Amino acid sequence: MINKKSRDEIKRMRHAGHIVALVHQKMKEVVEPGISTKELDNIAMKIIKENRAIPTFLGYAGFPASICTSINEEVVHGIPSEDRILKEGDIIAIDVGATYGGLVGDSAWSYRVGKVSPEVDALMKTTEESLYAGIEQMRPGNVLDDISKAIEAVAVKGGYGIVRQYGGHGVGYEMHEDPFLFNYSVGDNTLIKLNTAIAIEPMLNLGCDDVVVAEDGWTVSTKDGKPSAHFEHTVIATEDGPLITTQLMN
Ligand code: MG
Ligand code: MG
Repeated sequence: MINKKSRDEIKRMRHAGHIVALVHQKMKEVVEPGISTKELDNIAMKIIKENRAIPTFLGYAGFPASICTSINEEVVHGIPSEDRILKEGDIIAIDVGATYGGLVGDSAWSYRVGKVSPEVDALMKTTEESLYAGIEQMRPGNVLDDISKAIEAVAVKGGYGIVRQYGGHGVGYEMHEDPFLFNYSVGDNTLIKLNTAIAIEPMLNLGCDDVVVAEDGWTVSTKDGKPSAHFEHTVIATEDGPLITTQLMN
């Protein structure tokens, strides 16, 4: 069941998304060599709470933090820690969720720590590009496969691996709702209906597609140890086109 959002629900989703965007605005400022991922988590939590929202991830299936911090070969679901200190040349994917008025905003962004290698820089640019190619297809009357194909085409053009086991998802009162959205074409002809929301989130790898889950039960890394990038926005298919909720409101 894919739920349509009312006007009021869309308003609250935009508010939740605005708070997520505030966190990312701050992350962009504070991500630098020497900061720990735990410090990033503390900063994010403070912003979410100051804005009277709930950190969606904290306690979700037992997750112990407000954000996921995934460094270099880590793809998603990395756990913030005092012992993980960012260093020059790293990349870090920071995934943020906030619930406001019962509704969720979910957005991930990959950040450069200082200067990164040209090949990693290109991976990040292409992953971001694939996100926006997917968003462009989030229109009523299109099908899910239109989004998947658009993401895949950009990834393939760049020669990157596409993470298969994880993907986008419906979002609303729950962070993960129907449908599941693949980041490569599987021919899913599910219709995108007016005012439905999906978190679109390509994860592209410098090397192969395959990923492994660490012993902590959370951290997902590339099997070949090569870097991975992750970009995500929550998007609603409105009559005026794709509406990104996880951006700053005017
Ligand atoms: Mg997310
Ligand atoms: Mg998500």
